[in-house]
Amino acid sequence: MAAHYDLLIRNGICVLPWGEEATDVGVRNGKIVDLGVDASATADSTIDARNLHVLPGLIDPHVHLRDPGDKAVETIPTGTKGAVLGGIATVFDMPNTSPSIVDAKMLAWKQGYVEEVAWCDMGLYIGGTKTNIPELASLELAQGVCAIKIFAGSSTGDLMVEDDENLEKVMRSGRRRIAYHSEDEYRLQERKPMFKSGDPYSNHMVWRDEEAAFLGTRRLMALARKTGRAAHILHVSTAQELSYLKDYRDIATCEMLVNHLTQVAPDCYDRLKGFGVMNPPIRGQAHMDAAWKAINDGTVDTVGSDHAPHPREKKLLPWPDCPAGLTGVQTLVPVMLNHVNAGRLKLTRMVELLSAGPARVYGAVGKGRLAAGYDADFTLVDMKAQRRIEDSWIVSPCGWTPFAGMDITGWPISVIVRGNVVMRDDTVLGAPIGKMVKFAG
Ligand SMILES: [Zn+2]
Repeated sequence: MAAHYDLLIRNGICVLPWGEEATDVGVRNGKIVDLGVDASATADSTIDARNLHVLPGLIDPHVHLRDPGDKAVETIPTGTKGAVLGGIATVFDMPNTSPSIVDAKMLAWKQGYVEEVAWCDMGLYIGGTKTNIPELASLELAQGVCAIKIFAGSSTGDLMVEDDENLEKVMRSGRRRIAYHSEDEYRLQERKPMFKSGDPYSNHMVWRDEEAAFLGTRRLMALARKTGRAAHILHVSTAQELSYLKDYRDIATCEMLVNHLTQVAPDCYDRLKGFGVMNPPIRGQAHMDAAWKAINDGTVDTVGSDHAPHPREKKLLPWPDCPAGLTGVQTLVPVMLNHVNAGRLKLTRMVELLSAGPARVYGAVGKGRLAAGYDADFTLVDMKAQRRIEDSWIVSPCGWTPFAGMDITGWPISVIVRGNVVMRDDTVLGAPIGKMVKFAG
């Protein structure tokens, strides 16, 4: 008797862990059960992926969905809708909400809320503070927690652990890999009085200079080695850190943001003004060149968007009164596919950075590869599709993107989460089916 599946994906080019292969994929009970399916097999539903690439469900490991917070800016329902429209099957959400996710009570609330309203699967960061250090060892093991997040330098919100004594205590509480925002807070505060309201937006990168980032990373690496606690340095932005981190592969992994691969100073500040202001800042050409080199030599483990929406009217304020942070969850995949088409990286490398990499770094179970037994998460892309990114396409209530006007070749056509088609042809389908991701550890 011919095999029967819940879902069959026929005729696509699959990006497998061992390379591209034209093969069919059979799905049952939300899992991949077969790669290579007999022509006689039947299914409840069949997707014809002719002319499409079938990627493992892509993961944005760095988003701020601002929920709880200001609903006029972003929520989990709108942020995860943006994610799936942009080709993302899973997001890992940051804890600096209002209030922040720093204790068992808020975490339990958020886990329940996510499974009612999210359109894709989610992992949650738990925020480390100077007062919750003793609880971090148990909080990091809670269901759906991808990692502890430490802001060693200030950004949006009031979460911060900036001094070596408390950072060491954090590293000695628990055992899983910790994710860090690495900018040296003392240097940021020391340099702040050098600037005044109304200075050019490009002063954002002068204030938060290369040394602020590099010093932050040197301090964290010294403590990580001392304590033996694995680290993940988020949004590395300088050539200096990328060179330095090669000597810390025993203890450290790192993330690169799509912005640092795509936007460059001074152009971004001249053209985008407040809509080019983010932390760590977009820097000059030499840093972008180093970023691309690090993508292609394997220094970088993950790529994220750092989706961090703010109201349009606040981004129009003069520097430094405009808040730092840019939208990005919906544009991450299109912009990266465009880079693939421009020859800057291979599609297999993109899949590693946006799926296998996040799954490996954070220990996500059942995610990150097309393989039997893994979750039936897929991002189907048309490498030849051409579109322009426009503000009107963005579903975040704040309604803007720093990539507006960018012409893109390569576009996500469909997203499937655990066998459920949640997006097809720019339309979100069904009901929110998002669940908490499981993490090993
Ligand atoms: Zn962030």
